[in-house]
Amino acid sequence: MLNYFILLAGIFIISFGFFILISSHKKLLNITFFLVSLMIGSWILSNFLFQINPTVILLKTIFFISILSTLSLYLWAYFLDGKENISIKFSLFMALLLCSSLFVGGAIFKDGLVVVSLNSPSDVVLGQYFLSYVIYMVLLILGFLSYLIKIYLTVDIERKMKVRFVLIGITLFLIMASTFSLILPTFGFDKLAILDSPSAIVFLIFSSFAVLKYKMFNIQTVATVFLTVVLWGVLLVKVIIDSGKESFNLDIVVLILGFVLGVILIRSVLSEIRRREQLQVLSKQLGEANLHLKDLDKMKTEFVSLASHELLTPVSAIEGYLSMMLDEKLVKLEDPKAVQYMDRVYRSAKRLARLISDMLNISRIEEGRLLVEKKDINMVEVIQQVIEELKFKADEHKQKVVFEDPKASFMTFADPDKVKEILVNIIGNSIKYTLQPGTITVTIEKAPTSVLNSEWGKLEQAILASPVDDQESIHAVGDEHMKQIVGDEQYLIRVKDQGVGIPKEELTKLFKKFHRVGNYSTQESQGTGLGLYITRALVELHHGRIWPDSEGEGKGSTFTFSLPTLESKQAIVDLEAQSPQDKEQLKPLAKPMGDDDTL
Ligand code: ADP
Repeated sequence: MLNYFILLAGIFIISFGFFILISSHKKLLNITFFLVSLMIGSWILSNFLFQINPTVILLKTIFFISILSTLSLYLWAYFLDGKENISIKFSLFMALLLCSSLFVGGAIFKDGLVVVSLNSPSDVVLGQYFLSYVIYMVLLILGFLSYLIKIYLTVDIERKMKVRFVLIGITLFLIMASTFSLILPTFGFDKLAILDSPSAIVFLIFSSFAVLKYKMFNIQTVATVFLTVVLWGVLLVKVIIDSGKESFNLDIVVLILGFVLGVILIRSVLSEIRRREQLQVLSKQLGEANLHLKDLDKMKTEFVSLASHELLTPVSAIEGYLSMMLDEKLVKLEDPKAVQYMDRVYRSAKRLARLISDMLNISRIEEGRLLVEKKDINMVEVIQQVIEELKFKADEHKQKVVFEDPKASFMTFADPDKVKEILVNIIGNSIKYTLQPGTITVTIEKAPTSVLNSEWGKLEQAILASPVDDQESIHAVGDEHMKQIVGDEQYLIRVKDQGVGIPKEELTKLFKKFHRVGNYSTQESQGTGLGLYITRALVELHHGRIWPDSEGEGKGSTFTFSLPTLESKQAIVDLEAQSPQDKEQLKPLAKPMGDDDTL
């Protein structure tokens, strides 16, 4: 029984070394580890053979292999600190060791043992060179231990861990082997003496930690290797038992097949683990890059916010003083050219102030710092107020803004200033982008949420299908709670004009930052391309959506936006309570000073 245990131990050690070899067959550390396991495995197997068929030559071979096994340990340990090739100094040292080992080995073969009887392995009498063999082996092992300690003291912390495993492994092995073959027999218990060589398993398993990465030792790999090795062992034992029988050839074929399939299985498990490892590394790198990008983005927004804030005050002052200088009641400017130039400067200052305040608003929205104070409001009243405010501009552009009073109240839960801003932007654009005299029609209706989903859904799909670059923030607001659509019904407010219209391919791009349709009519009018971006963000902060529609150039445009009905008030309050907004940081919309005639 114990004999077969030794046989299995030998097979296990060689297969284990082979597993380490195929896990990374190019690394010298793995190759030399395989050499070590091959030597130790052969040593154990020759012990097994000796138990079955004790011959003098086998016994001498065992002593010889034990010398070579120790030599292979030196070679392996050399690569423990990550070296990729072998130095001349070390090659010379190894050559010297090999010569002396061959010499001692030869002496053992010549006269290491004098055999009285080989009926039992214990009936062996030692020859004259045996003592020199023992001394040589002790020196070799001590030399190896001091070599390991030297490596331990010089390597970095990560490798120190690995060398520690090897040291623990070899100490355990020496303790176990001497217990089985020396200590126990002195107390008269020598039945386990033959287990001294299989104890090397402990050393090899510990040492393999130094070769493989810790991640390799998961249940999946260990189970696969264990089962495969057991299978190989069983097949090999069957071959040995059946030798001479008829089924021997078949056994050999099955053994070879089992071996090949086992190797394939282990390799596939290993490559799977390696792939998983690579994936982990990649996703970690991706996560880090993403964090870095987020940091950069935050820094950029903070910078824009700070710069805009600092710029707005002096620009507004310039704009204010220019406006006073152009006021004939306050200042008399004699030269009409001066008035003309001053007027141009004034207009530019106003545009600049508009741009800066837009950028400030965008950074507030993106950082979630825009103050939105919602209350119960009647949309009909708000629309009427905005139309009244824009009347002068509309008249200037020969536009008539029509809103038929629906004779019902359309109550919603919203911030009146923000809703006004939305309407001013949309109706303002309709005025701005209509070159001929015309009518702008504003309507409000109550519709099931499904209408919103299908109308807005079309644009959303189209944006998602466009190139990544054009998909830039399909939604302006990042916080899911703030922009979620609520309720079964929505108010749909539509602003329809008879203006320049929008080409179909532009409809998906209108809400991008700084995007302006590049046709003649828009080039003629002043603008920043930020208005619709801000408008969309404001609509989304009210759980609404906004989308454009146009039959094409010259065919007018319709902008529709949705707002929830008052029935959804509680849902809105609940959702916003979940939003991680920093209430301390909230700021109102920034507005440039004076009248804005950039429409
Ligand atoms: P700005 O008006 O400052 O250019 P906006 O973001 O408000 O920026 O609008 C973006 C672009 O959308 C405009 O430049 C214009 O080309 C187009 N646009 C917006 N509203 C209309 C409209 N009612 N009719 C035609 N084109 C429009």
